[in-house]
Amino acid sequence: MKEFDLVIIGSGIVGSSLAYYSAKKEKKVLIIEKNFAGYNSSGTAQGGLSPYLGDDKKIRDLHVESFNLHKELKSNILEESNINPHYTEKKLFHIISNKNEISTLENAISYYEDPSKFEFLDEEEIRKFEPKLKSARFGALVSDDYMEVDSFNLTNALKEASINFGAEFFINNFSSKNMILRDSKFVGINIEGEIINSNKIAFTSGPWTKLILKDHIDVDVKPLKGQIIKAKTNEEFENSFYWQGDYATKKIDDYLWIGTTEEDVGFLEGRTDEAKNKIINSFKKIFSGFSDLDIKEHTACFRPYNERNEPILRESTEIEGIYVGTGAGRNGIKLGPGMGKRLSNMIF
Ligand SMILES: Cc1cc2nc3c(=O)[nH]c(=O)nc-3n(C[C@H](O)[C@H](O)[C@H](O)COP(=O)(O)OP(=O)(O)OC[C@H]3O[C@@H](n4cnc5c(N)ncnc54)[C@H](O)[C@@H]3O)c2cc1C
Repeated sequence: MKEFDLVIIGSGIVGSSLAYYSAKKEKKVLIIEKNFAGYNSSGTAQGGLSPYLGDDKKIRDLHVESFNLHKELKSNILEESNINPHYTEKKLFHIISNKNEISTLENAISYYEDPSKFEFLDEEEIRKFEPKLKSARFGALVSDDYMEVDSFNLTNALKEASINFGAEFFINNFSSKNMILRDSKFVGINIEGEIINSNKIAFTSGPWTKLILKDHIDVDVKPLKGQIIKAKTNEEFENSFYWQGDYATKKIDDYLWIGTTEEDVGFLEGRTDEAKNKIINSFKKIFSGFSDLDIKEHTACFRPYNERNEPILRESTEIEGIYVGTGAGRNGIKLGPGMGKRLSNMIF
């Protein structure tokens, strides 16, 4: 009978990171994935690793920890997996939308160990970097501590590296009925009659985690749909821009990625013209001179969103041996390695 130290359900960025950090500790890991590693948001995200600009210390610590892990992955993961996640260093311009935001941002950066990585620039100064900017009345907060990554490749690199360290990968639409429980303890899984022993299982199944576990534990996560437009343009666009929840950046595929939406529509799939128009109109309000903009792709996927907007990393109090890692919302690519490593440390 097969035996594993840990079964992981879902190979998005969080599950793949959990597999990677656990397999590196020589733990025997089985990853079960319904579709493929990087299906949905972990393979479709913009992949911006933006600094945290809120005031919650717990969340800031996770951001800092996870960004440091990305820096390690930038130097190791290609060799460990043979997949290039294309980490790219850039400047991130956070356009300030009103006067009150300035003090909020000043406060947020004052908590960083090295606030010199941030700089406030006025409209004139921003135009030296991006002449096509239409207006930024209140200026921008510019960060040098920013990278972008190919989120599909990174998720797959983490998964492949974990396999190289001994993990196994299996495609299956896992249901809680596949769990074997004894005296409120998880003791294994039964898949198509095959029993696999394990006393630990982690659900890193994105927004689907709530549905899978609904008969056992309550997980406060729901889908928050987001859409992105990818367009061809011959115009240069070297930096990354963020304004009022939207963003634009030219990625490694040479497309200008413009986003996004936050749609509370459950698991209603599909791209919409309404979202496309909203995204393009928002971009054209901020930038001029992209007359050759040619839309090549339009994507839609579901972020795992938690009402308190904070990641969930916990062991179940109801059933021993069940762990949950989800709810990273808009920051899952940035936080994925940190969440996977913390969950691995919680489990082993
Ligand atoms: C438009 C958009 C842009 C984004 N941009 C950024 C960004 O720039 N930076 C950033 O940090 N974050 C970004 N995000 C957020 C980020 O993509 C997500 O937070 C992150 O990918 C979530 O990862 P996850 O591993 O928790 O879940 P998921 O990626 O959802 O992975 C869950 C996995 O579980 C599998 N699964 C589900 N049910 C089952 C089952 N029954 N059995 C087996 N497997 C199952 C799924 O197939 C999937 O592979 C963006 C998201 C969107 C939508």
